[in-house]
Amino acid sequence: MKSFVDAHCDTIVKLCGRGEELLEAPCMQLDLKRLEAFPRAVQFFAVWLDPVYYPIAMRQTMKYIAFYYKQLEKNAESIRHINTFADIIRNKEQGRHSAVLSLEGGEALEGELSALEIYHRLGVRAITLTWNHRNALADGAAENVTGGGLTRFGRDVLREMEQLNMLVDVSHLSDAGFWDVERLAQKPFIASHSNARAVCPHARNLTDDMLRALAAKGGVAGLNFYPVFLRENGEARIDDIIRHASHMLDIMGENHIGLGSDWDGIGTTPVDLQHTGELAALFTRMEQEFGAEITEKLREGNFLRVLRECLAP
Ligand SMILES: [Zn+2]
Repeated sequence: MKSFVDAHCDTIVKLCGRGEELLEAPCMQLDLKRLEAFPRAVQFFAVWLDPVYYPIAMRQTMKYIAFYYKQLEKNAESIRHINTFADIIRNKEQGRHSAVLSLEGGEALEGELSALEIYHRLGVRAITLTWNHRNALADGAAENVTGGGLTRFGRDVLREMEQLNMLVDVSHLSDAGFWDVERLAQKPFIASHSNARAVCPHARNLTDDMLRALAAKGGVAGLNFYPVFLRENGEARIDDIIRHASHMLDIMGENHIGLGSDWDGIGTTPVDLQHTGELAALFTRMEQEFGAEITEKLREGNFLRVLRECLAP
């Protein structure tokens, strides 16, 4: 079976809230039991904060990061945290999955630039600058009406993240924020879980101009499986993911698209893709549509390339 890179899931936060275990949690959309079908996968685990936690953002983030490491320690035979690209290669050679720790929303910094370095020391390797709302870094996608982009603090964070070899993630960012990142970024950046707005008009999806600019910078956009972002009526199938991928291939070429499932962050799924154990059906459809070579790039090649370019070697 084929391995993959999935640049976004909310599984850690949901498991922690429910007191479930990463090894086996049938009520979730992702667990290690169902990852067994895909040896040597690279899974990003995001720490997302419910807005009720914003007043204690750093404290709550510590709780989730501690839970993340606890779960990985319990399952060290099958999955290990990565800090560098070499860690991914070593895990693959040893037949293990790789876990990438990310933060979904700069709230966790609580406005303190030095917190970024500490999060880096704690193993965080990617940060989605905003969630949907305005924070100290920038305006989120739900604030598009304001036309606000990155704040001065957001610009400092972007510069510091690049120096620390962390991946800058523009998913959830406002349109103006996207263009600020595009203008200021010296390295490739990612949209970990965002689709094409031309195929499904939603503020969480990227316009063709954005997709083109992201690709020109060497970045990758991860296909999001949330039906609301896939199709206007909110009812989706694997074919809708294929429609987005096909449009994005036309706009960006074959080297800039990957997977960003959003597992356990989405209340509904495509009817024929309900959890990570069913990914083989998506890969089969991709191969029929785009051929084996392009499917390999979408499955893992493109995100592996950007991880190689942006993380410390
Ligand atoms: Zn998200």
